[in-house]
Amino acid sequence: EKPSEHHSFEADVSRLLHMMVHSVYSDKDVFLRELISNAADACEKLRYEATTTPGLAAGEGEARIALTLDEEGRRLTVEDNGIGMSRAELIDALGTIARSGTRAFMERLQAGKPARDASSDEEKESEGGKAEGDSAQLIGQFGVGFYSCFMVASHVDVVSRRAGTDEAWIWSSDGKGSFDIRAADLAEAPARGTRITLHLMDEAKTYASRFTVERIVKAQSGHVPVPIDLIEKPDAEPARLTDGTALWTKARSEITDEQYNDFYRGLSGQYDTPALTVHFRAEGRVEYTALAFVPTVAPFDLFDPDRRGRMKLYVKRVFITDDADVLPRYLRFVRGLVDTADLPLNVSREMIQESPVLQVIKKGVTNRVLSALEKQLANDRNAYETVWSAFGSVIKEGIYEDFERREQLLALSLFKTTASGDGLRTLDDYVRDAKDGQDAIYYISGGNLDQIKASPQLEGFRARGIEVLLLTDSVDSFWAMNAPKFKDKAFRSITQGGADLKRFPLPDAGEKKDEAEEAPKADAFLALARSLLAEEVSDVRASDRLTESAVCLVAPEDGYDRQLEKILQDAGR
Ligand code: ADP
Ligand code: MG
Repeated sequence: EKPSEHHSFEADVSRLLHMMVHSVYSDKDVFLRELISNAADACEKLRYEATTTPGLAAGEGEARIALTLDEEGRRLTVEDNGIGMSRAELIDALGTIARSGTRAFMERLQAGKPARDASSDEEKESEGGKAEGDSAQLIGQFGVGFYSCFMVASHVDVVSRRAGTDEAWIWSSDGKGSFDIRAADLAEAPARGTRITLHLMDEAKTYASRFTVERIVKAQSGHVPVPIDLIEKPDAEPARLTDGTALWTKARSEITDEQYNDFYRGLSGQYDTPALTVHFRAEGRVEYTALAFVPTVAPFDLFDPDRRGRMKLYVKRVFITDDADVLPRYLRFVRGLVDTADLPLNVSREMIQESPVLQVIKKGVTNRVLSALEKQLANDRNAYETVWSAFGSVIKEGIYEDFERREQLLALSLFKTTASGDGLRTLDDYVRDAKDGQDAIYYISGGNLDQIKASPQLEGFRARGIEVLLLTDSVDSFWAMNAPKFKDKAFRSITQGGADLKRFPLPDAGEKKDEAEEAPKADAFLALARSLLAEEVSDVRASDRLTESAVCLVAPEDGYDRQLEKILQDAGR
């Protein structure tokens, strides 16, 4: 028998690290976001510790982050004058891959204390999110934030001096499973805080160029709460890239309309003045700030089925994504942002979207935007009509998409009706002016206003003074079928089923012939008509709908409304 060798599988930590870094982040630019956010955190920690240890922040001036480029030497340096790290902290924080603020966050989630509202439906949503987010939670437990710099650097040196101490340490590593640490001369360390030097890989040398770094900082970290300076080459004068103030963190009373409008224009790339500005801070289990604008002009791609939302997401003022799912589709025209401290930073965007925290935020922001619209409808009808004419047909999608808010969305809707003249009517107007005993909200739908206004089906309603909604958006046929009631009144198409108008007397009823006398004649005629039209129609009935026209077509009670039938036919169904 020949000798056998025993081998172990090689578990390569660095490969694992490499895979993690590359699977969590698809986009290498994010390493800079991670380093800047750590630097900003360090400045905020210093500010916090200095409140109990006076003098800690003395000497080094205001908080700032400096990025120094060395294109020739292929180096990028990120330096802050924040809290810094002691030897033990360097080993602990940078030497333990699983150390991360995210971890505490995930532990909180798992301990069954996920941030959520008290209501029971919220609970269901959270559970759904949790099941799907299992892998997100797992990866989120690794503190890959700092390690993402090994996506672009073959070697990293971290020199740090903790605030209030007289020693400095250098941590260095190639990210392949080990690191070295040694004492540094105070002269080679920052006076306070941390300097991280990335020795860039050849394929990542663009991160030492001003163009790239400036672009990334503006795009990703433009609203980090600490100012960021760019030093183009070693010993050059610093140039300020961002000033460290984020508009949304200020109190509303400190922000002028002009500042809001400028901010909106920068954010949206549009030049109109927003019709509504919603800015609030939510406190409670999930804390966040939201700043949302309702434009006055519709974007060209509003009805593009691929159009995503336009709300940005920040985590502690660090940009995460452009199209956070914080509003329902039918509010996709709203522009703005949400900033929260309750989401992990170093988890991919996809995973953040599934977080139960985001569900809570979505509910909160949606409610606030809708109630702002309600307020505007009540207090500034003209401004609201501008919003409605730009976005009404999008908002109406919500009537069939958002079952829970259907009644609210119906109340926000404006309509042309047989009683609206040149203006528009709300359903509250309609219900208030309805006839005694009228239990339905009548509507007629069609592609063209003049055409439906001339429909013979309207005659009987007009003659009795019963208001009928004139629906001309293609979305109308869908919700009208799916929105059974508003204030206990059912929606009824007047081109469908029986009209049942006998209960409402005609003003000139006296001239009408005696029904009992007429009935046998009518029945004979109907029987004849039925037999003649047996191939074409399913029934022929006497109707109260008509006062002038002899005949009109209606759809059966239990089928589609005539307009919806047409839309479905056009769509080839
Ligand atoms: P996280 O930021 O989620 O905690 P990171 O991997 O980004 O995870 O950072 C790990 C830890 O390293 C931080 O929590 C912090 O304690 C420490 N750290 C990183 N960068 C700095 C810095 N510039 N100044 C002080 N501490 C830092
Ligand atoms: Mg971090």
